[in-house]
Amino acid sequence: MATGWIAPLGPEVDAFEAELAAYAGREHAVALSSGTAALHLALLTMGIGPGSVVLTSSFTFAATTNAITYTGATPVLIDADAEGAISIELLARAIEDQRAKGADLRAIVPVDLLGHVVNHEAIAELAEASGLRILSDAAESFGAVHSGRPSASFGEAAAVSFNGNKIMTTSGGGALLTDDGDFAQHVRYLATQARLPVLHYEHKDIGYNYRLSNLLAALGRAQLERLPAMMERRRQLRLAYKALLADVPGVTFFAQPDGADGGVDHDNFWLTSILIDPAVAGVTRDQLIAHLSGHNMESRPLWKPMHAQPVFQHLDSYVDGTSDRFFEQGVSLPSGSVLTDEEVARVLDTVGDFFRAAA
Ligand SMILES: *Cc1c(COP(=O)(O)O)cnc(C)c1O
Repeated sequence: MATGWIAPLGPEVDAFEAELAAYAGREHAVALSSGTAALHLALLTMGIGPGSVVLTSSFTFAATTNAITYTGATPVLIDADAEGAISIELLARAIEDQRAKGADLRAIVPVDLLGHVVNHEAIAELAEASGLRILSDAAESFGAVHSGRPSASFGEAAAVSFNGNKIMTTSGGGALLTDDGDFAQHVRYLATQARLPVLHYEHKDIGYNYRLSNLLAALGRAQLERLPAMMERRRQLRLAYKALLADVPGVTFFAQPDGADGGVDHDNFWLTSILIDPAVAGVTRDQLIAHLSGHNMESRPLWKPMHAQPVFQHLDSYVDGTSDRFFEQGVSLPSGSVLTDEEVARVLDTVGDFFRAAA
């Protein structure tokens, strides 16, 4: 504030972009007002619009599907595999089927759900074989590593989010990451009201006001420094939950590679989520949520899939019941990195009591 750089641009934005690109293993980063804005402008930059069809994961937060819809394109929804990622098998079937119907297929938007990075190698192979582009929705996976690479380094471009609920935050914000300088430049141009570089404000395209403010970029730089410590704190909590619930029948951990088995890949430990099979456990995820809520502790069901949402249920979808089951059985446990040791102990006791009472 003291420097006077209160405008939505300035040296903190430039520095944040450079640090983000370095962290994510990319040539370019464009800091934006949200992850949704990053998805929207990336799709526009890929030339996606009315008449285009975009394949995406049904098991996601609405922002992914919303962004595709903003461009005038039509989303096609693909169910999840056993790990919650877009199913390669259903994706291949959808490409074949949509092509047979004459759809103008353009791109795949895979989603790193709950910080778990998708199988980018298989998706890239399929995309290449069918001439499709890849925009990675890495909104939830900043900090995660797949095949030894940062999550946002995959795809032609990747969108990340710094919303208040994500692993690191600028209170609200996001970024577009890519190795293509022209791509980044076009996103930056659209995000700045498509203002041409002349003094008198000349415009030949419709633009958007989507840049991140300089003040929030300063917050982002401080958060980025703390990211490794925040991830480690959440990793410890993950390991404590795993120890606590290892032998509870009917409870499984939602696919979350944590490197504990010596592997190099890990998610970002953003949330620890479990599936409760009521037929085996004798309790439901709603009962656990109610029990925790009774002790003033917040937990949440996993995302309700898009093919089951009133606003999107008319869309073409390729589903086999997997994400419906995740929604019915899944719950994200208290996972915040600001929880004190005492609070963590209280949460673990409360979760443990619930399953002991059920046994
Ligand atoms: C949070 C989120 C977004 C959108 O990010 P915002 O910064 O909130 O606009 C997009 N996709 C997924 C999967 C998300 O979880």
